[in-house]
Amino acid sequence: MCGDPPKPPSGTLPGKPPSGGTGGEGPCCACPAKGDVSTNGFSNYFTTTYSHSNSLTNKCKLDIIRTEEGGTVTITKTFALAYTAGATEAANKATVTGAISGAMGTWQSEAAPYRIIVEQPGCKQQKLKIQFTSTIVASGGDVAVSVDGTPAPPAPAPGLRSFVQGGTAMTFYINGVGEIAWTMVHEIGHTFGLPDEYIYNHPSATAPSVTYKGASDPDKTVTLVTSAIPADSATTFGFDHDCVMGRNGNTVYPDYLYYWVAIEVKKVLKDAGVSATVKVGTA
Ligand SMILES: [Zn+2]
Repeated sequence: MCGDPPKPPSGTLPGKPPSGGTGGEGPCCACPAKGDVSTNGFSNYFTTTYSHSNSLTNKCKLDIIRTEEGGTVTITKTFALAYTAGATEAANKATVTGAISGAMGTWQSEAAPYRIIVEQPGCKQQKLKIQFTSTIVASGGDVAVSVDGTPAPPAPAPGLRSFVQGGTAMTFYINGVGEIAWTMVHEIGHTFGLPDEYIYNHPSATAPSVTYKGASDPDKTVTLVTSAIPADSATTFGFDHDCVMGRNGNTVYPDYLYYWVAIEVKKVLKDAGVSATVKVGTA
C-alpha cells in the first residue's frame, strides 16, 4: 500500500464528494508516479508576441516521489554526443560532458528556492523539490549534441553562437562566443522548451513580451526591455530581459522558468488518475 485514500467527507457537502480512480479507492496521496515527457514548449509552455520558431520539444523523463507533505520531482534528460568540424571525442568529450552535468546541476541549484506544490483532494499539501539529472548515451538521446570544432572566425566577423533546433538538436561550438559553462546552461534551457527572452531584430519599437503558462498558476507575462546591445540594423529594435534566457552571462532564474515542471507533473499525475492543483511555490 502507498498512502491513505481520501477520507470520506463528513456532513453534507454541496456537490459530489471526490471519487476514486479504480475499484472505489481514491488515488493515494503518496503513490509514486512517472512519465515520459515530449512536449513542444512553444504554445504549451509559452507564447511570444515576437517572431519565434515554432518548435522546441522538451524530451525527458519525470519521476515523482511523494511523502505526506514533501517529496521530489526528478527530471532526467539523456544526451548523445557526436563530433564534427575538427572536434573529437578524445579532445572535447570531457569538456562537453562536464558542461552538461554542470548545467543540469545549475538548473537544480537555482531551483532550490522553489517547490512544486501539489494539492490533491483528500491529501495534505505536498511541496516537491525539483531535481535534475543527465546521462550521456551512445545514441538515441533526448538531445543530440553536435560538438563542433569550427575555429572562431577572425574579427570583425561575428562569432559562433551555439544553438538548439527543435528542442532536441544542439550545435555546441567549442570555439563559440560566451563562456562554455553558461552557454550550456542557456542552451539546455531551450531543450526544456524555454524560449529566448531577447530579440535584436524586432520590427517595432513596442516592447515584445513572453507569456508563460501555469499548470494551476495564472499565466505570467514578461515584457522585454530595451537592450543595451544595439539592434541588428538601423531599422530594427533590440530588447532583452534580466534572465538566464535573456542576456549572455545572466544568472537570474525566475520562478516561471520552472512552470513547465508543474505542467508536466500535473499531466503525469492526471495519467495516474489524480486530479491535482499543481503550482510553483517557495520552500
Ligand atoms: Zn538562446
